[in-house]
Amino acid sequence: MHDPQDITVLGPDRGGRSVAFTGGRVVAPPAETAAVRRVPCSDAVIHPGFVNAHTHLYSGLVPLGMPAPDPPPGDFVDILRRIWWRLDRALDADILRAAARYYLAEALLAGTTAVIDHHESPDFIDGALACLAEAATGLGIRAALCYGITERNRGLSEARQGLAETGAFAASDLGRHPLLRTLVGVHASFTVSDQALREAGDLCRSLNTVLHIHCAEGTVDGADALDRQYAGPVHRLMALDALPRGSLLAHGVHLDADQVRLLDQRQCWLIHNPRSNEGNGVGYAANLRLSRHVALGTDGWPSVPAQEIGALQRLGAAHGDTAEALAVRPAAGQRLLADLFDAAADPFAPGALADFVVRSDEEGPPRHVFVDGRQVVVDGGLITTDHTAVVDEAKIEAEKLWQRLA
Ligand SMILES: [Zn+2]
Repeated sequence: MHDPQDITVLGPDRGGRSVAFTGGRVVAPPAETAAVRRVPCSDAVIHPGFVNAHTHLYSGLVPLGMPAPDPPPGDFVDILRRIWWRLDRALDADILRAAARYYLAEALLAGTTAVIDHHESPDFIDGALACLAEAATGLGIRAALCYGITERNRGLSEARQGLAETGAFAASDLGRHPLLRTLVGVHASFTVSDQALREAGDLCRSLNTVLHIHCAEGTVDGADALDRQYAGPVHRLMALDALPRGSLLAHGVHLDADQVRLLDQRQCWLIHNPRSNEGNGVGYAANLRLSRHVALGTDGWPSVPAQEIGALQRLGAAHGDTAEALAVRPAAGQRLLADLFDAAADPFAPGALADFVVRSDEEGPPRHVFVDGRQVVVDGGLITTDHTAVVDEAKIEAEKLWQRLA
């Protein structure tokens, strides 16, 4: 039994729903007369928090005026080379901390209660995950972190440095924080050797976790797999024993039907990032409709659920997906997160994560946000940190970053 004094009861809301939680998990409702902490919201609606199933905290400063490359980049690989791979090499601890804190503060204020991050900073690998973890735990947001290994700058030794960072972080005190999970990250299969993928699979097994990788975002991943004598990038991951059940694959835009079905059978998650796919001109991920395991991410774009869901519905309608079929993707992220945190899949059932938002209107920012049972946003304001200081620090570090990129 839980001590009533430790229980919070949120609600009843406009629809009469209440939810009780303690210790970061939902519990059965206590007696009406119990002396619990009550947060009424009769003129608003309680929702599960938005889970951003694939993003990049390192790009958090981009909305503060990152200069566009001149001349504009051409194809997808040109975008990677001239924008994102330059940005990730310019990161240091101060820039990354500021980017992560700014991104996460805005995410919480918009109703995001968890992010699944995919991190790369080739010139700041050791300690990068702790930097992100401190930002997340300091603000009080839930996060699954990984370091996306690659060999594109320094070969296999670079990939191994990323795997070592992952293992060291997972074993640290911070890595075992209740708000955090550690995943094994790979940038994308076309930037790593078979040996690096085998070692990533080994690390998944030794940490008892799953893989998080970009897959078939552009056409280069599939072409690379064929060059290496595999039928496709998913076949390659499976052949190298680097795809544990429940792993996360971002994009899948250019996966054929067979590979999407293979992933679905393995209960692997595909993460749809519609705004990013449109922005990078890689196409619409039509075959994702063949999987029951598809969640929504923002791929580094601001974590504002209404914006990403709007793009999902707009682009889906233009490519033959029904609004009803797409509507399950934002909520699928909660199922994915429940798997990672060993919680109940129904967000209102006992044993579910106590991550909720309270909205007075469906489009605007939420009034209250709870993560792990702790209230982090009250009446639209962040109470875990000085928001103005977060913004000021972000502006200073953004200027430094633009100078490095110039
Ligand atoms: Zn990404």
